[in-house]
Amino acid sequence: MNLERITEKLNILADAAKYDVSCASSGSKRKNENKGLGNASNGICHSYTEDGRCVSLLKILLTNHCIFDCAYCVSRKSNDIKRAAFTVQEVVDLTINFYRRNYIEGLFLSSGIFKDADTTMERLVQVAKKLRTEHKFNGYIHLKSIPGASDELMREAGLYADRLSVNLEMPTEEGLKLLAPDKDRKDMIQPMDFLRNEIIQRAEEKKLFKKAPMFAPAGQSTQVIVGATAIEDDRAILHSANHFYKNFKLKRVYYSGYVPVLADNRLPALNTAVPMVRENRLYQADWLMRFYGFRVNEIVNNDQPHLDLDIDPKLSWALRNMQIFPVDINKADLQVILRVPGIGLLSAQKIVSARKFNRLNWEHIKKLGVAVNRARYFITCNSNAYERRDLTGTRIKQFILAESQSKYLKNKPDQLSLF
Ligand code: SF4
Repeated sequence: MNLERITEKLNILADAAKYDVSCASSGSKRKNENKGLGNASNGICHSYTEDGRCVSLLKILLTNHCIFDCAYCVSRKSNDIKRAAFTVQEVVDLTINFYRRNYIEGLFLSSGIFKDADTTMERLVQVAKKLRTEHKFNGYIHLKSIPGASDELMREAGLYADRLSVNLEMPTEEGLKLLAPDKDRKDMIQPMDFLRNEIIQRAEEKKLFKKAPMFAPAGQSTQVIVGATAIEDDRAILHSANHFYKNFKLKRVYYSGYVPVLADNRLPALNTAVPMVRENRLYQADWLMRFYGFRVNEIVNNDQPHLDLDIDPKLSWALRNMQIFPVDINKADLQVILRVPGIGLLSAQKIVSARKFNRLNWEHIKKLGVAVNRARYFITCNSNAYERRDLTGTRIKQFILAESQSKYLKNKPDQLSLF
């Protein structure tokens, strides 16, 4: 192995991979069997770079050569950058070496499309296959699925990878047409559709036959870029995410704030800040949709196409719907309690259990993990201290913002300058 050359490739291809944020490794339960190497399980820990990106996996591209010219991508063919490509064996060796040294928990492997979709996908599958079959590697493997790759290759990929993901990149078809006119949204949807069906079918088989092989046990995910075009407001992004969660059984949609690295008049200017606050708000809204029973239209709609940047989407919703508050914490349904700012999923469940034995007061609620400094404006309980005063939504927002320690607030002016 030529170490100098490998190091150079690693520098180029790890740097090119950093724009992909869809690399969380939770959700897989691959066990170490037959004295193999590694053990991917819930609880694999991640480390994050200062801008919030996950780095606990060896995260690289197989190559940054690409036949496409997507405006938002650093690897696009018209970009004048250094190109490199790993061989299958080099990626396998790197993964094993890094794993043995305890540098990584697994592999996140993506690639530019260097010849066509199938040739690229075939190489990715070969890496995973060699790791699993020749090295008995039980660490986590996340493979990118190349849009347009054949069902056969997708099926094989699912046998070796824990998670597969097809990146939608642009949240809407219009955005894709604008920034990647050579790409066809159908090529992304087709493998997602295939994976959804295969994952469901294999899970059924596994229930019947314990020895049936695992198929992408951590499911499939996707990534969308946020802020590369002004035509995609938060309403469009969240509707798109909701559609894919519902119809393709995605485990996660990852929102990646656009990092301006290329000069192109279709894109934000090079000195535009990465929309980190917006990215964060989208993740919060995503949680509200998945775990708190909110519909997209309640979070964003024609009157409010963008999420508030200065407050979280749950507080924003509550302030627009003050007529339903205050709610009595000792009587309200779980679904209503879940809508109170400052009360998380776990705290809401604890409240419903605890009130069977006691009428809850502020002390109890605090002990159950509620952020009382927020919740106090929206609830009543079995005590008078902090009872909600007759405040308007605007005043409550002012009080909460004045108290807020949000580290993001200082970025707000930059974020707003995006549009
Ligand atoms: S196909 Fe993928 S790697 Fe190639 S330019 Fe488009 S986004 Fe980049």
